[in-house]
Amino acid sequence: MAHKAQVRILGIRVDNVTYGEALARMEEFIADGRPHLVTTVNPEFIMTAQRDPRFAKILNEAHLNLPDGQGLVWAARMLGAPLRERVTGVDIVLRLAELSAERGYRVYLLGAAEGVAAAAARELESRFPGLEIAGTFAGSPALPEDDQAVERIRRTRSDLLLVAYGAPHQEAWIHRNLVRLPVPVCMGVGGALDFIAGKTKRAPRWVQRLGLEWLHRLAHEPWRWRRMMALPRFALLVLRDRSRQNA
Ligand code: UDP
Repeated sequence: MAHKAQVRILGIRVDNVTYGEALARMEEFIADGRPHLVTTVNPEFIMTAQRDPRFAKILNEAHLNLPDGQGLVWAARMLGAPLRERVTGVDIVLRLAELSAERGYRVYLLGAAEGVAAAAARELESRFPGLEIAGTFAGSPALPEDDQAVERIRRTRSDLLLVAYGAPHQEAWIHRNLVRLPVPVCMGVGGALDFIAGKTKRAPRWVQRLGLEWLHRLAHEPWRWRRMMALPRFALLVLRDRSRQNA
């Protein structure tokens, strides 16, 4: 079956890109120079968007929506428009850091708890020699704090901005500040900085390969169960959509 360039899952556009293509698109954004919003869509995003039309609009207007998570791969297959690859937030951040070290792109890390972005910066710089983290700032996703963060970021002349305020706050933050951010790639990265800083542990490779990373996360952060209830509801909505399609 020919792959579609974009897949629509419960009304949200997901771009059907591999890691390589995602990186190539972001390099085009950097060459273009204008600010772009990049997101990593997972089933929780799509469920949030079902009850938050503003978030749905932000996602559908984003310049690139990466398919993050096994749940999306399953849903896309169910809906007859398979995704080629799962592109996770943490892995794309690592690939971006590697690319930035090679090309000399400057990266700014915004968000996460106090000290986490700075720890993630040190880890990335030691893992990818030559990488320049242009700045880090925990800040806050609250509107009155925007000016201060934007001013700090503007001064650094960064090429990439990674925002860790969790969805939908990080996407809303980028969306409302995009016109005054002279940063070509602005991406919401969720818990990626926590993983890179070693604050949360990633599942072993074999668990990831089985598509069970969510189960590992639940075991280590049991308070997530309430949020994860979105997953079975997501599955039900996808199955309902599929039976509608086939009717
Ligand atoms: N976060 C923050 N300020 C807030 C809310 C969240 O800095 O007001 C950070 C939090 O510390 C974490 C990230 O946002 O680093 C998002 O974490 P979460 O695990 O919710 O993201 P996920 O990967 O599940 O989307």
